[in-house]
Amino acid sequence: MMTGMTMAGQELSQPMTPAPYLVREVAKETPDTFTLLLQPENGGAASSSVNPADHKLFEPGQFSMVWVFGVGELPISISGDPAKQDRLVYTVRSVGKATHALVSQNVGAGIGVRGPFGTGWPVDEARGQDLVIVAGGIGLAPLRPVIYHVLSHRQEYDRLVLLYGARSPRDLLYRKELATWARQRDTQVLITVDYGGLSWRHHVGVVTTLFKYARLRPTRSVAMLCGPEIMMRFVARDLEAHGLARNQIYLSMERNMKCAVGFCGHCQYGPHFICKDGPVFRYDQIAPLMDKYEL
Ligand SMILES: Cc1cc2nc3c(=O)[nH]c(=O)nc-3n(C[C@H](O)[C@H](O)[C@H](O)COP(=O)(O)OP(=O)(O)OC[C@H]3O[C@@H](n4cnc5c(N)ncnc54)[C@H](O)[C@@H]3O)c2cc1C
Repeated sequence: MMTGMTMAGQELSQPMTPAPYLVREVAKETPDTFTLLLQPENGGAASSSVNPADHKLFEPGQFSMVWVFGVGELPISISGDPAKQDRLVYTVRSVGKATHALVSQNVGAGIGVRGPFGTGWPVDEARGQDLVIVAGGIGLAPLRPVIYHVLSHRQEYDRLVLLYGARSPRDLLYRKELATWARQRDTQVLITVDYGGLSWRHHVGVVTTLFKYARLRPTRSVAMLCGPEIMMRFVARDLEAHGLARNQIYLSMERNMKCAVGFCGHCQYGPHFICKDGPVFRYDQIAPLMDKYEL
């Protein structure tokens, strides 16, 4: 196991050592997706095991390595409010052994957390501009901290446009919040589903079908995308067709990973490691890689 570097007797970084956390809340979002609220076992503020001296707990878009004892460790994006320093919030879709074990934890259970890791969304660079957020399914989770940040610093940003697609109405995350966000000033929230059913009164179709309703101002926008890779490929192309340059578009990539600090090589993506050069990339950095299937 890697040990932390020390300087003047102070531990500066322990990226491989999980910090002990307790599950405080588990909330059902959809039939297979749950949001967990974790707090440090010893009370007090949550901490960054990467740099304890850093006052920021995490940057919107970063992820943790979450350890379910006796089962395994998995990368999960932080989906909570970056201003709330006493907690870490994760929204997890149960797709296999580790995610199922994580969403099945009871309140009071112990969980190990490493991180936060990776690059964040460019919330500072986006100041003064419109934000166009495009999410598919669980992809809204890593973008929710950006929405919290923008809404609590409203005067620093221009228009907020959220385009969100899910498989069906019952797969929509954060329903109450979506309704609250839609009522905020200079904010447009458009939602679509693949299959609506009889009682669905909103849009039906893939998320790109929402572009015709979106109030886009391409020359003054920064776009942030997260969802299935095929969806991000089409959304990025459509944004370009609407006049955004590749360097105005950011997307979050997902690959299997183990160490999260660039050693194991599991998440190599061309010349990049998703864990430390990503998960958030600017589109012009990875567009040629995204056209290569199997990579
Ligand atoms: C940076 C990053 C952030 C993530 N954030 C979230 C999040 O906020 N919420 C969430 O629910 N999930 C997130 N994931 C995905 C999550 O880590 C995987 O779903 C999880 O590792 C699957 O483990 P498992 O044992 O439950 O499933 P497994 O039994 O390992 O796999 C079940 C299925 O999921 C696929 N899979 C496994 N791992 C991954 C992976 N890393 N990426 C894509 N597909 C995978 C497998 O191919 C298989 O089809 C993130 C992944 C990364 C890399």
